[in-house]
Amino acid sequence: MAKIFCVANQKGGVGKTTTTVNLAAGLAKIGQRVLMVDLDPQGNATMGSGIDKRGLELTVYDVLLESASVKEAAVLSDKCGYHVLGANRELAGAEVELVELERREKRLKTALAQADGDYDFVLIDCPPSLSMLTLNGLCSAHGVIVPMQCEYFALEGLTDLVNTIKQVHANLNADLQIIGLLRVMFDPRITLQQQVSEQLKDHFGDKVFHTVIPRNVRLAEAPSYGLPGVVFDPSAKGSQAFVEFAQEMVDRVQRLPVPRNSEVKMASGA
Ligand code: ADP
Ligand code: MG
Repeated sequence: MAKIFCVANQKGGVGKTTTTVNLAAGLAKIGQRVLMVDLDPQGNATMGSGIDKRGLELTVYDVLLESASVKEAAVLSDKCGYHVLGANRELAGAEVELVELERREKRLKTALAQADGDYDFVLIDCPPSLSMLTLNGLCSAHGVIVPMQCEYFALEGLTDLVNTIKQVHANLNADLQIIGLLRVMFDPRITLQQQVSEQLKDHFGDKVFHTVIPRNVRLAEAPSYGLPGVVFDPSAKGSQAFVEFAQEMVDRVQRLPVPRNSEVKMASGA
């Protein structure tokens, strides 16, 4: 059964897309079958996985509107070793179109359920807002990975996201939880970053991933080559950190509670 994770934070530029594509590449590198879903109309995660968003015949938009299945719309990125359910500008329209439709927040969940056996991990790159698109991501997921920079307002910025996750958990998806906070773009020479990092650990305990992603210029350069850093320059410090993070995710997933749906199935089948 595929484990499904949203990479979310309502702030822009915090490293969501970088985390999604590099974690996908890291997981693929250690032998996991991965689907990366781009839920941001900017299509950065698509382009950053070596897939030209302008040339795509089918995207996550078609999947949300139920005119294509995940199997039909996902494409393999040869260079990266994972499948991509891509996005482009067209997806911006889905926001409005979905409002009119039934089960509007569960469309991605339904579609992913049909591809469940094909992947070990599904990673969803969310846009920087709590929109209908993000809601589709949160309704589909077992957990949320929250990338964050260790800056002064980091904790305050989390409140909205934590509240949204609580609401989705209560009303729409009882499996949803924060899997962990990932410290990204970390610079240990900056005292404030160290302090905020300590605060995070005090507040959130083992919800803070052990792996820390350093600020690393190779990670920032990689998208202009249409690749995740992990593929573009595997020896870079940032790339190595993401492969380490992939291993941490594999370990953490083994300790996750069994999702409710399968508990019900197991109980009734026994
Ligand atoms: P988001 O998807 O949250 O908007 P991005 O992943 O696009 O954020 O990251 C924002 C910018 O920061 C991009 O230019 C990206 O290349 C850069 N970046 C992200 N992570 C790192 C890192 N660890 N080191 C250096 N630059 C980074
Ligand atoms: Mg992004």
